[in-house]
Amino acid sequence: MTAALDLLDLDPSLSEEERQIRDVVRQLVDDRVRPHVADWYEDGKVPARELAREFGKLGLLGMHLTGYGCAGASAVAYGLACQELEAGDSGLRSLVSVQGSLAMYAIWRYGSEEQKQRWLPSMATGEAIGCFGLTEPDHGSDPASMATRARRDGDDWVLTGGKMWITNAPIADVAVIWARTDEGVRGFAVPTDTPGVTTREIRRKMSLRASVTGEIVLDDVRLPADAQLPEAVGLKAPLSCLTEARYGIVWGAVGAARDCLETTLAYASSRTQFGRPLAGFQLTQAKLADMAVELVKGQLLALHLGRLADAQRLRPEQVSVGKLNNVREALAIARQCRTILGANGVSGEYPIMRHANNLESVLTYEGTSEIHQLVIGQRLTGLSAFA
Ligand SMILES: Cc1cc2nc3c(=O)[nH]c(=O)nc-3n(C[C@H](O)[C@H](O)[C@H](O)COP(=O)(O)OP(=O)(O)OC[C@H]3O[C@@H](n4cnc5c(N)ncnc54)[C@H](O)[C@@H]3O)c2cc1C
Repeated sequence: MTAALDLLDLDPSLSEEERQIRDVVRQLVDDRVRPHVADWYEDGKVPARELAREFGKLGLLGMHLTGYGCAGASAVAYGLACQELEAGDSGLRSLVSVQGSLAMYAIWRYGSEEQKQRWLPSMATGEAIGCFGLTEPDHGSDPASMATRARRDGDDWVLTGGKMWITNAPIADVAVIWARTDEGVRGFAVPTDTPGVTTREIRRKMSLRASVTGEIVLDDVRLPADAQLPEAVGLKAPLSCLTEARYGIVWGAVGAARDCLETTLAYASSRTQFGRPLAGFQLTQAKLADMAVELVKGQLLALHLGRLADAQRLRPEQVSVGKLNNVREALAIARQCRTILGANGVSGEYPIMRHANNLESVLTYEGTSEIHQLVIGQRLTGLSAFA
Protein backbone atom coordinates (compact mmCIF):
# COMPACT_ATOMS: atom_id res chain seq x y z
CA MET A 1 0.00 0.00 0.00
CA THR A 2 1.27 3.49 -0.71
CA ALA A 3 2.40 5.13 2.51
CA ALA A 4 -0.28 7.82 2.10
CA LEU A 5 -3.05 5.20 2.32
CA ASP A 6 -1.72 3.69 5.57
CA LEU A 7 -3.47 6.43 7.52
CA LEU A 8 -3.36 4.50 10.80
CA ASP A 9 0.24 3.19 10.58
CA LEU A 10 -0.94 -0.41 10.50
CA ASP A 11 2.23 -1.62 8.83
CA PRO A 12 4.30 -1.76 12.05
CA SER A 13 1.63 -3.88 13.73
CA LEU A 14 2.52 -6.73 11.36
CA SER A 15 5.43 -9.02 12.24
CA GLU A 16 8.56 -9.09 10.11
CA GLU A 17 7.55 -12.50 8.76
CA GLU A 18 4.02 -11.32 7.92
CA ARG A 19 5.41 -8.31 6.02
CA GLN A 20 7.84 -10.56 4.14
CA ILE A 21 5.08 -12.95 3.02
CA ARG A 22 2.93 -10.01 1.94
CA ASP A 23 5.78 -8.49 -0.05
CA VAL A 24 6.62 -11.76 -1.81
CA VAL A 25 2.99 -12.22 -2.90
CA ARG A 26 2.78 -8.57 -3.96
CA GLN A 27 5.86 -9.07 -6.14
CA LEU A 28 4.38 -12.20 -7.68
CA VAL A 29 1.19 -10.29 -8.50
CA ASP A 30 3.19 -7.41 -9.99
CA ASP A 31 5.32 -9.74 -12.14
CA ARG A 32 2.94 -12.50 -13.10
CA VAL A 33 -0.57 -11.09 -12.88
CA ARG A 34 -0.75 -7.34 -13.53
CA PRO A 35 0.81 -7.44 -17.02
CA HIS A 36 -1.77 -10.00 -18.25
CA VAL A 37 -4.88 -9.81 -16.12
CA ALA A 38 -6.79 -7.29 -18.28
CA ASP A 39 -6.43 -9.67 -21.25
CA TRP A 40 -7.41 -12.72 -19.21
CA TYR A 41 -10.47 -10.84 -18.05
CA GLU A 42 -11.44 -9.59 -21.49
CA ASP A 43 -10.90 -13.00 -23.10
CA GLY A 44 -12.56 -14.86 -20.24
CA LYS A 45 -9.58 -17.22 -20.18
CA VAL A 46 -7.00 -17.59 -17.43
CA PRO A 47 -4.04 -20.00 -17.31
CA ALA A 48 -5.32 -21.36 -14.01
CA ARG A 49 -3.25 -24.57 -13.95
CA GLU A 50 -0.02 -22.72 -14.69
CA LEU A 51 -0.81 -20.11 -12.04
CA ALA A 52 -1.75 -22.80 -9.51
CA ARG A 53 1.69 -24.37 -9.92
CA GLU A 54 3.36 -20.98 -9.42
CA PHE A 55 1.21 -20.27 -6.36
CA GLY A 56 2.06 -23.77 -5.15
CA LYS A 57 5.79 -23.09 -5.45
CA LEU A 58 5.36 -20.12 -3.12
CA GLY A 59 3.39 -22.22 -0.63
CA LEU A 60 0.14 -20.28 -1.14
CA LEU A 61 -2.13 -23.32 -1.63
CA GLY A 62 -3.51 -24.53 1.69
CA MET A 63 -0.98 -22.19 3.24
CA HIS A 64 -2.73 -22.00 6.63
CA LEU A 65 -2.94 -25.81 6.91
CA THR A 66 -0.25 -27.99 8.50
CA GLY A 67 1.44 -31.15 7.23
CA TYR A 68 1.03 -32.86 3.82
CA GLY A 69 3.25 -30.26 2.14
CA CYS A 70 1.23 -27.27 3.43
CA ALA A 71 3.05 -24.19 4.68
CA GLY A 72 1.44 -23.95 8.14
CA ALA A 73 1.38 -20.13 8.01
CA SER A 74 -0.57 -17.98 10.45
CA ALA A 75 -4.12 -16.81 9.67
CA VAL A 76 -2.84 -13.23 9.39
CA ALA A 77 -0.14 -14.24 6.89
CA TYR A 78 -2.74 -16.14 4.85
CA GLY A 79 -5.03 -13.11 4.97
CA LEU A 80 -2.26 -10.79 3.78
CA ALA A 81 -1.61 -13.16 0.85
CA CYS A 82 -5.34 -13.03 -0.03
CA GLN A 83 -5.23 -9.24 0.13
CA GLU A 84 -2.35 -9.07 -2.34
CA LEU A 85 -3.85 -11.66 -4.70
CA GLU A 86 -7.18 -9.85 -4.82
CA ALA A 87 -5.43 -6.53 -5.40
CA GLY A 88 -4.45 -8.28 -8.66
CA ASP A 89 -7.88 -9.79 -9.33
CA SER A 90 -10.62 -11.46 -7.27
CA GLY A 91 -10.43 -14.43 -9.67
CA LEU A 92 -6.92 -15.31 -8.50
CA ARG A 93 -7.82 -15.04 -4.86
CA SER A 94 -10.81 -17.26 -5.66
CA LEU A 95 -8.48 -19.86 -7.19
CA VAL A 96 -6.38 -19.91 -4.03
CA SER A 97 -9.37 -19.75 -1.64
CA VAL A 98 -11.26 -22.58 -3.31
CA GLN A 99 -8.18 -24.76 -3.54
CA GLY A 100 -6.90 -24.14 0.00
CA SER A 101 -9.85 -23.14 2.17
CA LEU A 102 -12.61 -25.17 0.56
CA ALA A 103 -11.30 -28.28 -1.23
CA MET A 104 -8.05 -28.87 0.72
CA TYR A 105 -9.52 -27.79 4.05
CA ALA A 106 -12.46 -30.20 3.62
CA ILE A 107 -10.09 -33.12 3.03
CA TRP A 108 -7.60 -31.95 5.71
CA ARG A 109 -10.30 -31.49 8.35
CA TYR A 110 -12.75 -34.29 7.50
CA GLY A 111 -10.82 -36.79 5.34
CA SER A 112 -9.21 -40.13 6.19
CA GLU A 113 -5.43 -40.44 6.40
CA GLU A 114 -5.46 -42.17 2.98
CA GLN A 115 -7.51 -39.35 1.42
CA LYS A 116 -5.12 -36.76 2.87
CA GLN A 117 -2.05 -38.64 1.59
CA ARG A 118 -3.66 -39.11 -1.80
CA TRP A 119 -4.76 -35.54 -2.47
CA LEU A 120 -3.17 -32.91 -0.22
CA PRO A 121 0.53 -33.00 -1.25
CA SER A 122 -0.28 -32.66 -4.97
CA MET A 123 -2.91 -29.99 -4.25
CA ALA A 124 -0.37 -28.02 -2.20
CA THR A 125 2.01 -27.91 -5.17
CA GLY A 126 -0.79 -27.06 -7.60
CA GLU A 127 -0.29 -30.29 -9.56
CA ALA A 128 -3.83 -31.33 -8.65
CA ILE A 129 -6.74 -28.88 -8.65
CA GLY A 130 -9.74 -29.19 -6.37
CA CYS A 131 -13.23 -27.74 -6.34
CA PHE A 132 -16.05 -27.63 -3.80
CA GLY A 133 -19.57 -28.48 -4.90
CA LEU A 134 -22.28 -27.31 -2.55
CA THR A 135 -24.51 -24.96 -4.61
CA GLU A 136 -27.08 -26.51 -6.94
CA PRO A 137 -29.20 -24.98 -9.70
CA ASP A 138 -32.25 -24.83 -7.37
CA HIS A 139 -30.50 -24.52 -3.99
CA GLY A 140 -28.05 -21.70 -3.23
CA SER A 141 -28.49 -19.84 0.06
CA ASP A 142 -30.41 -22.83 1.45
CA PRO A 143 -28.04 -25.80 1.00
CA ALA A 144 -30.01 -27.82 3.58
CA SER A 145 -32.55 -28.40 0.79
CA MET A 146 -29.97 -29.89 -1.57
CA ALA A 147 -31.25 -32.45 -4.07
CA THR A 148 -27.99 -34.29 -4.84
CA ARG A 149 -28.25 -37.76 -3.32
CA ALA A 150 -25.78 -40.45 -2.35
CA ARG A 151 -27.16 -43.93 -1.78
CA ARG A 152 -25.37 -47.05 -0.64
CA ASP A 153 -25.12 -49.99 -3.03
CA GLY A 154 -23.25 -52.80 -1.27
CA ASP A 155 -19.95 -51.24 -0.16
CA ASP A 156 -20.17 -48.54 -2.83
CA TRP A 157 -21.84 -45.15 -2.91
CA VAL A 158 -23.83 -43.98 -5.93
CA LEU A 159 -24.16 -40.21 -6.41
CA THR A 160 -26.85 -38.54 -8.52
CA GLY A 161 -27.54 -34.86 -8.96
CA GLY A 162 -25.89 -31.66 -10.07
CA LYS A 163 -23.88 -28.75 -8.75
CA MET A 164 -23.88 -25.25 -10.23
CA TRP A 165 -21.61 -22.22 -10.09
CA ILE A 166 -18.61 -24.26 -8.96
CA THR A 167 -15.27 -22.45 -9.11
CA ASN A 168 -12.53 -24.51 -10.84
CA ALA A 169 -14.96 -27.35 -11.68
CA PRO A 170 -14.01 -27.63 -15.38
CA ILE A 171 -10.29 -27.94 -14.55
CA ALA A 172 -10.53 -29.90 -11.30
CA ASP A 173 -8.95 -33.30 -10.65
CA VAL A 174 -10.99 -33.81 -7.48
CA ALA A 175 -14.38 -32.42 -6.55
CA VAL A 176 -15.50 -32.32 -2.94
CA ILE A 177 -19.21 -33.04 -3.36
CA TRP A 178 -21.84 -32.60 -0.66
CA ALA A 179 -24.86 -34.88 -0.94
CA ARG A 180 -27.87 -35.96 1.03
CA THR A 181 -27.82 -39.56 2.35
CA ASP A 182 -30.21 -41.55 4.52
CA GLU A 183 -28.03 -40.45 7.48
CA GLY A 184 -27.99 -36.74 6.55
CA VAL A 185 -25.52 -34.62 4.56
CA ARG A 186 -22.16 -36.24 3.80
CA GLY A 187 -19.07 -35.20 1.81
CA PHE A 188 -17.25 -37.15 -0.89
CA ALA A 189 -13.86 -36.71 -2.56
CA VAL A 190 -14.78 -37.48 -6.16
CA PRO A 191 -12.04 -37.90 -8.79
CA THR A 192 -13.42 -36.02 -11.76
CA ASP A 193 -12.44 -38.80 -14.18
CA THR A 194 -14.93 -41.16 -12.49
CA PRO A 195 -17.50 -42.42 -15.04
CA GLY A 196 -20.73 -40.42 -14.78
CA VAL A 197 -19.03 -37.12 -13.81
CA THR A 198 -19.27 -34.38 -16.42
CA THR A 199 -18.45 -30.70 -16.14
CA ARG A 200 -19.38 -27.76 -18.31
CA GLU A 201 -17.89 -24.29 -18.17
CA ILE A 202 -20.30 -21.42 -17.46
CA ARG A 203 -19.77 -18.77 -20.13
CA ARG A 204 -20.91 -15.15 -20.50
CA LYS A 205 -20.09 -14.24 -16.89
CA MET A 206 -19.81 -10.47 -16.56
CA SER A 207 -17.88 -10.88 -13.32
CA LEU A 208 -14.88 -12.98 -12.23
CA ARG A 209 -13.95 -13.50 -15.87
CA ALA A 210 -10.40 -14.40 -14.84
CA SER A 211 -11.73 -17.41 -12.94
CA VAL A 212 -13.05 -20.72 -14.25
CA THR A 213 -16.61 -21.51 -13.12
CA GLY A 214 -18.67 -24.53 -14.05
CA GLU A 215 -21.49 -26.95 -13.60
CA ILE A 216 -21.02 -30.55 -12.42
CA VAL A 217 -23.43 -33.30 -13.46
CA LEU A 218 -23.38 -36.52 -11.41
CA ASP A 219 -25.11 -39.32 -13.29
CA ASP A 220 -25.09 -42.50 -11.18
CA VAL A 221 -21.49 -41.94 -10.16
CA ARG A 222 -20.27 -45.10 -8.43
CA LEU A 223 -17.65 -44.52 -5.76
CA PRO A 224 -15.87 -46.90 -3.39
CA ALA A 225 -16.75 -46.60 0.30
CA ASP A 226 -13.44 -44.87 0.99
CA ALA A 227 -14.42 -41.84 -1.15
CA GLN A 228 -16.62 -40.60 1.70
CA LEU A 229 -15.03 -38.06 4.04
CA PRO A 230 -15.40 -40.03 7.28
CA GLU A 231 -15.38 -37.13 9.72
CA ALA A 232 -17.88 -34.94 7.86
CA VAL A 233 -21.27 -35.41 9.54
CA GLY A 234 -24.12 -33.07 8.65
CA LEU A 235 -24.35 -29.66 7.05
CA LYS A 236 -22.06 -28.10 9.65
CA ALA A 237 -19.11 -29.71 7.84
CA PRO A 238 -19.48 -27.76 4.55
CA LEU A 239 -20.51 -24.66 6.51
CA SER A 240 -17.24 -24.80 8.48
CA CYS A 241 -15.31 -24.90 5.17
CA LEU A 242 -17.23 -21.80 4.04
CA THR A 243 -16.22 -19.98 7.24
CA GLU A 244 -12.57 -20.70 6.35
CA ALA A 245 -12.99 -19.33 2.84
CA ARG A 246 -14.98 -16.28 3.95
CA TYR A 247 -12.14 -15.34 6.23
CA GLY A 248 -9.90 -15.00 3.15
CA ILE A 249 -12.55 -12.84 1.47
CA VAL A 250 -12.53 -10.43 4.43
CA TRP A 251 -8.91 -9.65 3.54
CA GLY A 252 -9.21 -10.07 -0.21
CA ALA A 253 -11.96 -7.47 -0.62
CA VAL A 254 -9.71 -4.93 1.06
CA GLY A 255 -7.04 -5.71 -1.53
CA ALA A 256 -9.40 -4.99 -4.43
CA ALA A 257 -10.52 -1.74 -2.78
CA ARG A 258 -6.92 -0.69 -2.14
CA ASP A 259 -5.98 -1.26 -5.77
CA CYS A 260 -8.93 0.91 -6.86
CA LEU A 261 -7.97 3.68 -4.46
CA GLU A 262 -4.27 3.61 -5.35
CA THR A 263 -5.15 3.81 -9.04
CA THR A 264 -7.56 6.66 -8.38
CA LEU A 265 -5.14 8.67 -6.26
CA ALA A 266 -2.51 8.50 -8.99
CA TYR A 267 -5.06 9.37 -11.68
CA ALA A 268 -6.61 12.27 -9.77
CA SER A 269 -3.16 13.72 -9.09
CA SER A 270 -2.13 13.73 -12.73
CA ARG A 271 -5.38 14.54 -14.56
CA THR A 272 -6.09 18.25 -14.86
CA GLN A 273 -9.49 19.90 -15.45
CA PHE A 274 -10.35 23.58 -15.01
CA GLY A 275 -6.61 24.24 -14.64
CA ARG A 276 -5.96 22.06 -11.60
CA PRO A 277 -5.54 18.38 -10.77
CA LEU A 278 -8.78 16.50 -10.00
CA ALA A 279 -7.21 15.70 -6.61
CA GLY A 280 -7.22 19.43 -5.79
CA PHE A 281 -11.03 19.77 -5.88
CA GLN A 282 -12.76 19.66 -2.51
CA LEU A 283 -15.47 17.33 -3.80
CA THR A 284 -12.81 14.86 -4.98
CA GLN A 285 -10.96 15.09 -1.67
CA ALA A 286 -14.17 14.38 0.23
CA LYS A 287 -14.60 11.19 -1.81
CA LEU A 288 -10.96 10.21 -1.36
CA ALA A 289 -11.05 10.85 2.39
CA ASP A 290 -14.25 8.85 2.91
CA MET A 291 -12.89 5.95 0.89
CA ALA A 292 -9.52 5.95 2.68
CA VAL A 293 -11.32 5.89 6.05
CA GLU A 294 -13.41 2.88 4.98
CA LEU A 295 -10.30 1.17 3.64
CA VAL A 296 -8.35 1.43 6.91
CA LYS A 297 -11.44 0.40 8.89
CA GLY A 298 -11.67 -2.69 6.69
CA GLN A 299 -7.99 -3.44 7.20
CA LEU A 300 -8.31 -3.06 10.96
CA LEU A 301 -11.29 -5.41 10.97
CA ALA A 302 -9.43 -8.01 8.88
CA LEU A 303 -6.38 -7.79 11.13
CA HIS A 304 -8.48 -8.10 14.28
CA LEU A 305 -10.27 -11.19 12.92
CA GLY A 306 -6.90 -12.62 11.85
CA ARG A 307 -5.47 -12.20 15.35
CA LEU A 308 -8.61 -13.86 16.79
CA ALA A 309 -8.17 -16.76 14.32
CA ASP A 310 -4.52 -17.18 15.32
CA ALA A 311 -5.64 -17.31 18.96
CA GLN A 312 -8.24 -20.01 17.98
CA ARG A 313 -11.00 -17.63 19.11
CA LEU A 314 -12.67 -16.65 15.83
CA ARG A 315 -16.41 -17.35 15.70
CA PRO A 316 -18.44 -17.78 12.46
CA GLU A 317 -20.64 -14.73 13.06
CA GLN A 318 -17.49 -12.61 13.49
CA VAL A 319 -16.41 -13.74 10.02
CA SER A 320 -19.89 -12.71 8.82
CA VAL A 321 -19.26 -9.22 10.25
CA GLY A 322 -16.01 -9.03 8.26
CA LYS A 323 -17.42 -10.41 5.02
CA LEU A 324 -20.55 -8.25 5.13
CA ASN A 325 -18.68 -5.05 5.87
CA ASN A 326 -15.55 -5.45 3.80
CA VAL A 327 -17.18 -6.65 0.57
CA ARG A 328 -19.95 -4.05 0.80
CA GLU A 329 -17.45 -1.24 1.42
CA ALA A 330 -15.01 -2.49 -1.22
CA LEU A 331 -17.81 -2.42 -3.78
CA ALA A 332 -18.79 1.10 -2.71
CA ILE A 333 -15.15 2.20 -3.00
CA ALA A 334 -14.80 0.65 -6.47
CA ARG A 335 -17.95 2.43 -7.67
CA GLN A 336 -16.86 5.77 -6.21
CA CYS A 337 -13.37 5.44 -7.71
CA ARG A 338 -15.04 4.78 -11.05
CA THR A 339 -16.64 8.22 -10.93
CA ILE A 340 -13.30 9.97 -10.34
CA LEU A 341 -11.80 8.36 -13.44
CA GLY A 342 -14.69 9.62 -15.56
CA ALA A 343 -14.88 7.81 -18.89
CA ASN A 344 -11.56 6.08 -18.20
CA GLY A 345 -13.29 4.49 -15.23
CA VAL A 346 -15.20 2.19 -17.56
CA SER A 347 -12.10 1.25 -19.56
CA GLY A 348 -10.33 -2.07 -19.17
CA GLU A 349 -7.06 -0.12 -19.35
CA TYR A 350 -7.68 0.64 -15.67
CA PRO A 351 -8.51 -2.04 -13.11
CA ILE A 352 -11.48 -0.33 -11.47
CA MET A 353 -14.47 -1.60 -13.43
CA ARG A 354 -12.93 -5.09 -13.38
CA HIS A 355 -12.67 -4.99 -9.57
CA ALA A 356 -16.21 -3.58 -9.27
CA ASN A 357 -17.62 -6.31 -11.50
CA ASN A 358 -15.68 -8.99 -9.64
CA LEU A 359 -16.91 -7.74 -6.29
CA GLU A 360 -20.51 -8.32 -7.42
CA SER A 361 -19.75 -12.06 -7.35
CA VAL A 362 -17.83 -11.77 -4.09
CA LEU A 363 -20.91 -10.07 -2.58
CA THR A 364 -22.98 -13.13 -3.54
CA TYR A 365 -20.75 -16.17 -3.05
CA GLU A 366 -19.77 -17.68 0.29
CA GLY A 367 -23.05 -16.37 1.70
CA THR A 368 -24.81 -13.33 0.31
CA SER A 369 -24.87 -10.06 2.26
CA GLU A 370 -28.45 -10.80 3.27
CA ILE A 371 -27.46 -14.20 4.68
CA HIS A 372 -24.66 -12.58 6.73
CA GLN A 373 -27.13 -9.98 7.99
CA LEU A 374 -29.36 -12.87 9.11
CA VAL A 375 -26.41 -14.59 10.84
CA ILE A 376 -25.58 -11.38 12.71
CA GLY A 377 -29.26 -10.71 13.39
CA GLN A 378 -29.64 -14.15 14.94
CA ARG A 379 -26.63 -13.54 17.17
CA LEU A 380 -28.09 -10.19 18.28
CA THR A 381 -31.66 -11.30 18.88
CA GLY A 382 -31.46 -15.03 19.49
CA LEU A 383 -34.13 -15.40 16.78
CA SER A 384 -33.60 -17.19 13.46
CA ALA A 385 -35.16 -15.25 10.58
CA PHE A 386 -33.86 -17.49 7.78
CA ALA A 387 -37.17 -19.12 6.92
C1 LIG B 1 -18.57 -16.65 -9.67
C2 LIG B 1 -19.18 -17.56 -8.66
C3 LIG B 1 -18.44 -18.62 -8.14
C4 LIG B 1 -19.03 -19.49 -7.21
N1 LIG B 1 -18.29 -20.57 -6.72
C5 LIG B 1 -18.91 -21.50 -5.94
C6 LIG B 1 -18.21 -22.69 -5.54
O1 LIG B 1 -17.02 -22.87 -5.82
N2 LIG B 1 -18.89 -23.64 -4.83
C7 LIG B 1 -20.22 -23.50 -4.49
O2 LIG B 1 -20.76 -24.39 -3.86
N3 LIG B 1 -20.89 -22.36 -4.85
C8 LIG B 1 -20.28 -21.37 -5.57
N4 LIG B 1 -20.97 -20.23 -5.95
C9 LIG B 1 -22.39 -20.14 -5.63
C10 LIG B 1 -22.71 -19.15 -4.52
O3 LIG B 1 -22.24 -19.62 -3.29
C11 LIG B 1 -24.23 -18.90 -4.53
O4 LIG B 1 -24.50 -18.14 -5.70
C12 LIG B 1 -24.74 -18.20 -3.29
O5 LIG B 1 -24.72 -19.06 -2.19
C13 LIG B 1 -26.16 -17.65 -3.47
O6 LIG B 1 -27.01 -18.63 -3.97
P1 LIG B 1 -27.94 -18.32 -5.26
O7 LIG B 1 -27.10 -17.70 -6.31
O8 LIG B 1 -28.66 -19.57 -5.56
O9 LIG B 1 -28.94 -17.20 -4.77
P2 LIG B 1 -30.31 -17.43 -3.96
O10 LIG B 1 -30.06 -18.30 -2.77
O11 LIG B 1 -31.38 -17.80 -4.89
O12 LIG B 1 -30.56 -15.95 -3.43
C14 LIG B 1 -31.04 -14.90 -4.27
C15 LIG B 1 -31.28 -13.65 -3.43
O13 LIG B 1 -32.23 -13.93 -2.41
C16 LIG B 1 -31.68 -13.62 -1.14
N5 LIG B 1 -32.16 -14.58 -0.13
C17 LIG B 1 -32.11 -15.93 -0.15
N6 LIG B 1 -32.60 -16.44 0.98
C18 LIG B 1 -32.97 -15.37 1.76
C19 LIG B 1 -33.55 -15.23 3.06
N7 LIG B 1 -33.81 -16.29 3.84
N8 LIG B 1 -33.79 -13.99 3.51
C20 LIG B 1 -33.48 -12.91 2.75
N9 LIG B 1 -32.93 -12.97 1.53
C21 LIG B 1 -32.67 -14.19 1.04
C22 LIG B 1 -30.17 -13.75 -1.32
O14 LIG B 1 -29.46 -13.01 -0.32
C23 LIG B 1 -30.02 -13.17 -2.71
O15 LIG B 1 -29.99 -11.77 -2.65
C24 LIG B 1 -20.38 -19.30 -6.82
C25 LIG B 1 -21.10 -18.19 -7.32
C26 LIG B 1 -20.51 -17.34 -8.22
C27 LIG B 1 -21.31 -16.17 -8.74
